[in-house]
Amino acid sequence: MARKSVSQISLVRVSLTCKCPQCGRGHLFVGLLEMAEECEECHLQFNSEQLGDGAAAFIVLILGIVLVGAAIFLETMVSPSIWVHLCLWTPASILGSIVLLRPFKALMLGLHYKHGLLPTTKEK
Ligand SMILES: [Zn+2]
Repeated sequence: MARKSVSQISLVRVSLTCKCPQCGRGHLFVGLLEMAEECEECHLQFNSEQLGDGAAAFIVLILGIVLVGAAIFLETMVSPSIWVHLCLWTPASILGSIVLLRPFKALMLGLHYKHGLLPTTKEK
């Protein structure tokens, strides 16, 4: 299904602001990590079930590389106790996942919109 006009809103903006990829005004999230059903401005259906776990998979890979690299670096430079590692990397992985999940979900939704995988705007 071809779109009549694709928004010129960049994926970076959609990702960082977590706003609708079509109009740039509507919010993508209704809670911390819960996506809205549709845009409150232009009524674009977000269809968040279609996104799956793609964002979480990217976050696991990215955070895994960064945190394991940081842990190896800390271990080779300072060799702290195992408790230091637990106190550093456990909250860092939890908080990092939560912080990164919104922009990555927004990015996935923006990519779905850009490639025409979202349903068209609901007729009123
Ligand atoms: Zn919108």
